Amino acid sequence: MRLLLIGAPGAGKGTQAQRIADHFGLVHISSGDLLRKHVAEDTATGRSVRAYMDRGDLVPDAVVLDMLRKPVIAAAAAGGYVLDGFPRTVEQAQQAYGVAKELGVAVQLAVFLEVPREELVSRIVARGLSSGRTDDTREVVENRLAVYEQQTSPILDYYRRRERLISVNGNRPVDEVTWSVVVQLQRARRALDKQ
Ligand code: AMP
Repeated sequence: MRLLLIGAPGAGKGTQAQRIADHFGLVHISSGDLLRKHVAEDTATGRSVRAYMDRGDLVPDAVVLDMLRKPVIAAAAAGGYVLDGFPRTVEQAQQAYGVAKELGVAVQLAVFLEVPREELVSRIVARGLSSGRTDDTREVVENRLAVYEQQTSPILDYYRRRERLISVNGNRPVDEVTWSVVVQLQRARRALDKQ
């Protein structure tokens, strides 16, 4: 199975992506984690993206697409992937599709974790106390949420129009959300198998 998770910052993408990957035996690929690793290791990529990330802005498409190419192809060959944090724009979705389609590794289903805005802010600020993430602060969160609304949320329509979108209420205890995603994915997979 080849999946991606869509949701605002704080919606629980990382947590749910890992659980879904474990459940179905898929590889979890997080664009944010990979970028943070580059920053921590002070690579050329890390140095080029740090300022964008500290502000809560998106890093340039080419950086993300290049960074994800190999892990996505490898994961697809190893049974499938759960992408978390990518795509962040319709442009990224279109570009990725162009490359992935030819290789037979394009995404099959997109899962949208729906969480109200007030809940997002309090979750992120709470996470910031323990995560050590420099972008989990109240000031940067406002920008990250605005970026999500303006640049990322249009991808919901992109996948909805292609009948690939599954929406899940993410404003519930972690286990309940996981269970709901798993049930919906099993149902969707049976439909995919019949195609
Ligand atoms: P995340 O861990 O998904 O919240 O991502 C943290 C930060 O990494 C974001 O605020 C962006 O600066 C950057 N980032 C992660 N994924 C992408 C992406 N697909 N496109 C552009 N920037 C990204």
